[in-house]
Amino acid sequence: MQTIGHLIGGSIVTTGERHQDVYNPSTGTPSKQVLLANKATVEQAIAAAQAAYPAWRNTPPAKRARVMYRFRALLEQHADDICRLIGEEHGKIIHDAMGELQRGIENVEYACGVPELLKGEHSKNVGPAIDSWSEFQPLGVVAGITPFNFPAMVPLWMYPIAIACGNTFVLKPSERDPGSTLFIAQLLQEAGLPEGVLNVVNGDKEAVDTLLDDPRVQAVSFVGSTPIAEYIYGRASANGKRCQALGGAKNHAIIMPDADLDNAVNALTGAAFGSSGERCMALSVAVAVGDEIADALVSKMKAQMTALKVGAFSDKDNDFGPVITKAHQQKVVGYIDSAEQQGAEVVVDGRKPVVTGYEQGFFVGGTLIDRVTAEMVCYQEEIFGPVLLVVRVNSMQEAMDLINAHEYGNGTCIFTRDGEAARYFSDNILVGMVGINVPLPVPVSYHSFGGWKRSLFGDLSAYGPDGVRFYTRRKTITQRWPSAGVREGTQFSFPS
Ligand code: NAD
Repeated sequence: MQTIGHLIGGSIVTTGERHQDVYNPSTGTPSKQVLLANKATVEQAIAAAQAAYPAWRNTPPAKRARVMYRFRALLEQHADDICRLIGEEHGKIIHDAMGELQRGIENVEYACGVPELLKGEHSKNVGPAIDSWSEFQPLGVVAGITPFNFPAMVPLWMYPIAIACGNTFVLKPSERDPGSTLFIAQLLQEAGLPEGVLNVVNGDKEAVDTLLDDPRVQAVSFVGSTPIAEYIYGRASANGKRCQALGGAKNHAIIMPDADLDNAVNALTGAAFGSSGERCMALSVAVAVGDEIADALVSKMKAQMTALKVGAFSDKDNDFGPVITKAHQQKVVGYIDSAEQQGAEVVVDGRKPVVTGYEQGFFVGGTLIDRVTAEMVCYQEEIFGPVLLVVRVNSMQEAMDLINAHEYGNGTCIFTRDGEAARYFSDNILVGMVGINVPLPVPVSYHSFGGWKRSLFGDLSAYGPDGVRFYTRRKTITQRWPSAGVREGTQFSFPS
């Protein structure tokens, strides 16, 4: 069986004490093993990043950007291999993996603009013959800890911009599907990145805690579930590190009585069941305003869902694949059970899907649950599966109050034809990313990604302009040159 190791100081390391199985969720069988780094291995990776830092920090940003241009070309060239690895280990269907990779590539493209992004601010004559400027310096060694659901994209939210800004990086990917993440990191080496600038350590809590405690690590970016995000933020901050920790979600869509219902049903179907609902921006709650639109929504969703195809990642005809593990499959089914027990109505039941030829795969079929209320466990917690809940309310304000009271505030959307209602909604909703007739309002790479409330701990969002701010610190310099005697020795030509 293949062993997925680490990338430390430019070399692949495949020896270590602990390891864990990596499953193919479509077949339900282990297909590879991943090494789990102990403290000493993570410390080696930090040391490699620390050693690479001085030279990389002083490499001109334009030369750092050139590495990113070559990296981008290699990502496109190897897209099929990357997406097959994602499919094998995560389970998402190939064209969804292609979409994930494309969003990742867009972050590399943003990092290609780093000479422009680092230009800083300058003021001449802030006093008599005194000039002042602010520059944005890299932090040093920074770390990233990433979740299973986007093994290519989420790491690419972090290290391209961090590295382009002059930092060196230690990445700890999800141990559940680490293959594509490591493969992509090797492509960056191939693009000409000096050894030690990007290191990848696979592992679990021991690896993460080492990164959180080591004084050489200056900053930590985390994406994952809220309990772990809160833990990471607390421990990294207590150790004096800069930290951004993005957590879980429960994304609501409001369906107004005037909505274009066919459009809303299409959008909800893709956003609730795409990638088996294992997206932090998945729409998992439809809030219908008024019983009339609720009845119409449920009936159209039910009809549309008869055509949904769940199955193996490799079949192009499938709409979505399995969930990540057997344990997660059981957890999702448990939420559907609990909804039923607490009085909700399971309209479309995906608890026992038939996937011929893949009987051991971790599949859950598309599920629609009506008459859900705020007191139910299925409403309060993140299910992270192909399950859409319908909550019925009587007014838009009631829908907004529900969203604003929820502990998560990642994404949300309103379906309406009323511009005034949409404007009021986007202005007053306590959520970080808002869609108006757009079900998955994931910001493009030149904006930044971040939720509110318990969906993000820290001040700055991920990637884009906030990424540049997170991975640099401002230094402001004020200078005056005495007027006499300093011209001696000045060079008037560019050094060649
Ligand atoms: P997770 O929190 O279980 O794991 C994330 C990372 O933390 C992994 O690298 C894992 O090894 C590590 N980890 C897990 N337990 C740990 C512990 N006790 N101590 C230290 N490290 C630990 O998340 P997941 O299941 O991989 O991913 C799904 C979650 O991520 C969902 O909640 C989803 O909403 C969230 N997510 C959020 C965003 C966002 O941008 N807000 C994006 C993607 C995923």
